[in-house]
Amino acid sequence: MKDINRVLDLGSSKLTVLLSLSGFMILVLLVIEDVDILHWRALWVWKAMPSEQTRISAGSIDPSCVSRSSQHLYRANKVADISPTLLESWKRYGELHRKCAPSNWTEVLEESSHVNSSCKFMIYVETHEGLGNRILSLLSALLYSMITDRVLMIDSRKEVGKILCEPFQGSSWLLPADFPYEIVKHAPDLGQAIDKNFSVPIVHLHLAHVQRETDKLFFCNEFQEPLSHVRTLAWSSNQYFVSSFFKVPWMWRKLVTLFPGSRLDIFAQLSSLAIAPANSIWSLVSRFYNSYLSCSKSRVGVQIRTHSRPDLASFDPLVNQIVSRCLTSHHLLPNLSSSSSPSLIEFEKQQQQQHQVDVSVFVASLQGKYYETLRDEFLQNGTASEELVSFHSLSSEGAEWHNLHQASLALAEMWLLSFAHHLATSEFSTFGYISRGLARTRPWMLKIRGTELHPEGDVCYLSQSSEPCTHFPQQPDCSSARNISTEHREWIKRHLGGCQDQRGGLQLLNL
Ligand code: GDP
Repeated sequence: MKDINRVLDLGSSKLTVLLSLSGFMILVLLVIEDVDILHWRALWVWKAMPSEQTRISAGSIDPSCVSRSSQHLYRANKVADISPTLLESWKRYGELHRKCAPSNWTEVLEESSHVNSSCKFMIYVETHEGLGNRILSLLSALLYSMITDRVLMIDSRKEVGKILCEPFQGSSWLLPADFPYEIVKHAPDLGQAIDKNFSVPIVHLHLAHVQRETDKLFFCNEFQEPLSHVRTLAWSSNQYFVSSFFKVPWMWRKLVTLFPGSRLDIFAQLSSLAIAPANSIWSLVSRFYNSYLSCSKSRVGVQIRTHSRPDLASFDPLVNQIVSRCLTSHHLLPNLSSSSSPSLIEFEKQQQQQHQVDVSVFVASLQGKYYETLRDEFLQNGTASEELVSFHSLSSEGAEWHNLHQASLALAEMWLLSFAHHLATSEFSTFGYISRGLARTRPWMLKIRGTELHPEGDVCYLSQSSEPCTHFPQQPDCSSARNISTEHREWIKRHLGGCQDQRGGLQLLNL
């Protein structure tokens, strides 16, 4: 709350009067049970500052999407810098979005030849993967749309459109309920478009982790120009391709203008503009944070996802040992006490501290037993430093379901993890990538992938970047991949590397 008050101190006298009034209102409302304080403050402040610029800067609150401006205040790393060129481009992109709202999608998708209209479109098709994958794919589609001046429209049949706020004021990114998805499904792919010399109204880009040779040609410089004349593209993917974009000369030139210098926390910058939990989910996040996490001196986020085994939600005691050892050996948590009986100092400290805990740990996993086991270890033993540690978890779903309920919980948990001062996340998990990207932090990567685990060796390591790993970057065989400028080659050498948690992966190195 203290931070929120600080940000609301915006300096204008008109606003100060408004805020004083709102402060009085809040005092009155505080006596009413279950008042959503942020929401009420939002109403007052938003009325004073409704412009697009203020909508996206930290400090103003949009009542239709409280999380957009409030989320930065909950993060340990509160600075939400966005490159000025990206901000400028985002503003222009919002205007393009408002200008280009087709009334008849069938007409747009069936128009038979190259079109000179200034409005071009990108259809984001939501796939059946987990939420982490889908968000990474969405951000990749968004960035590509921004650098190619395409209006991004998203699938409204599944979860993503329901759990995220609308990013553009005065223009919806959701496709209408009667959108002709069948046309997109059967649209020519890139290989077919090449055969037809790009004389097609739509090209469906199939950019999942497995691609045919002709799909991969998307990452060739020479096909970008002809693609730019196709009115509509569709994007089906489960990957974060932003790192791959930097290898394509034409895209690289555009991207280094948007993200100048070495501050390549692109996921963090893009997500702070475009990805914000809808109010229904944000109320869960903020209530949970304020009830369980905000009062401790330090917050630790732990995400346990056991990839490459038959049951991804099973409990494995070795995983538990690895997590526990990583957290204590790297001082995210204090060491457990060797004596099980509490000392007098511990009792005295507890009396003085009243309700304050030293470290609160938020655990996210499909398997609730990890949270319970960690909590019980610290309950039964206490810590060598006499510090109090509390454990919290929002859900224990037991299995992966692709429904709105689980997607909402997963989104809430990604955001709660991102509020931590210290993070430990699972190797290869896009769920973990989202939380570290939002937090702009390098997490400890838990080596819990597969079934051959080694709790006695190096159990975790510090990630080299806050950026997501592109698990399966595609290496097309095209001339542009060989003929890149020396400057570009040097840039790649400095800023792109392999992933620590996936052989053959590609990652932007930013920190
Ligand atoms: P990845 O498979 O680790 O890359 O992560 P994804 O987010 O792409 O897919 C995992 C899916 O499983 C999520 O979208 C959730 O539906 C579910 N899931 C996995 N771990 C958790 C968790 O800790 N909490 C919740 N609520 N759901 C989870």
